[in-house]
Amino acid sequence: MKAIILGGGVSGCVAARELTQRNFEVTLIEKNNYLGGGCHTFFWGGHPYTEGPRPLHVINDRIFNYINDIVPMRLFHLYLDTYIEQDRSFYSFPIHWDDIQQMPDKEKILKELDDLPEHNDAKNLEDGWLNAVGPTLYEKYVKTYTEKMWEIESNKVFEDYAWTVKGRPIQKGDRTVELATGKPDHAYPIEETGYNRFFEYCVKDTKVILGKEIEKVNLKKKAVYLEGEEFCADIIISTIALDDLMGNEFGKLRYMGRDFYPIVFPVEHLFKDGHHFIHYPNCEKYTRIVEYKNITGHVSKDSLVVMEIPSHSNKLYPYKIKSETEKAEKYINSLPDGIYSIGRLGTYRYLNIGQCFENVWELMERIF
Ligand SMILES: Cc1cc2nc3c(=O)[nH]c(=O)nc-3n(C[C@H](O)[C@H](O)[C@H](O)COP(=O)(O)OP(=O)(O)OC[C@H]3O[C@@H](n4cnc5c(N)ncnc54)[C@H](O)[C@@H]3O)c2cc1C
Repeated sequence: MKAIILGGGVSGCVAARELTQRNFEVTLIEKNNYLGGGCHTFFWGGHPYTEGPRPLHVINDRIFNYINDIVPMRLFHLYLDTYIEQDRSFYSFPIHWDDIQQMPDKEKILKELDDLPEHNDAKNLEDGWLNAVGPTLYEKYVKTYTEKMWEIESNKVFEDYAWTVKGRPIQKGDRTVELATGKPDHAYPIEETGYNRFFEYCVKDTKVILGKEIEKVNLKKKAVYLEGEEFCADIIISTIALDDLMGNEFGKLRYMGRDFYPIVFPVEHLFKDGHHFIHYPNCEKYTRIVEYKNITGHVSKDSLVVMEIPSHSNKLYPYKIKSETEKAEKYINSLPDGIYSIGRLGTYRYLNIGQCFENVWELMERIF
């Protein structure tokens, strides 16, 4: 049996490994001249970095072991900070109770927290946050961040109360972002080249075509066209954007992207206590900066920071609004037999790395 995989990010590479292990003859087509998508490790001034921080959020042992058996992983606690310009202060994110005690408008915030509704049954992101933390904290930490991140007039456009640490908007005690257990549940490869060797390993028995963008897909015929050449298969697994796969049949899907600007600083460590990234929820153009050595473990006398600015130059974040998710559903429901669309772009869902693995495994169960 033959399979074509469109896209060589996490989902495409893991799908390739799963299919070759089941004796499929697999061809993977990737438009970049490297594998891994945004999880690929690049170098700038000798410093390894990815496009956006990409530590694995360890959902379960199966996912951790799947990577760790090929590229050893280091577990760690993840620490995020937020710079609040009006307070001229760096605070933890998620919002921390002890930071509130240091804020100049503490009394007002405490009063707002006392007045919060008992049940948060908000229908949009703005009301969700207002009901969870009150107006002052919402304005400091969230309002401008999400509005600039998505280039929107108001956070009310998002029907979902997302972009939060669900159920725990204000943290007490431990300042990590670990959700359920309090144990370190973020992991990153120990090797300088990050996940790169893992991706290479996944496709070791696959025919890989890099640096070629798919021109046309004939879904009914299960054929893909590249520079005039036709590639046919028994199944196609697509991890590229649904609208690209189906020639914009139901219209373009909205995405936000980001531009990444690497900057090397002449100091060994820049962020407080080895923290990993800082959110900027003020009127600056960037949303986040990341000090990469704190994730990669790179040792050097200088330090690489990458600044992220929202843009439309790539498709990274699907818009979680009803009209777009309904359009995506329409695309998914009209896929013919033998064509499967998975991964972050292929499901139009905000999947993390671990969820991409689960998505591939669910598909394998559906097919076999
Ligand atoms: C900035 C950012 C930071 C993130 N940080 C984390 C994190 O810290 N932890 C975490 O768990 N998750 C994180 N995620 C999410 C996680 O990295 C993604 O869910 C995952 O990498 C998606 O993998 P994928 O293979 O589904 O999609 P992609 O990586 O998008 O793969 C799709 C591939 O298809 C290729 N492609 C697209 N169109 C075509 C075409 N026409 N022809 C050929 N090839 C094509 C692309 O080049 C790409 O390589 C982050 C996401 C972003 C955007």
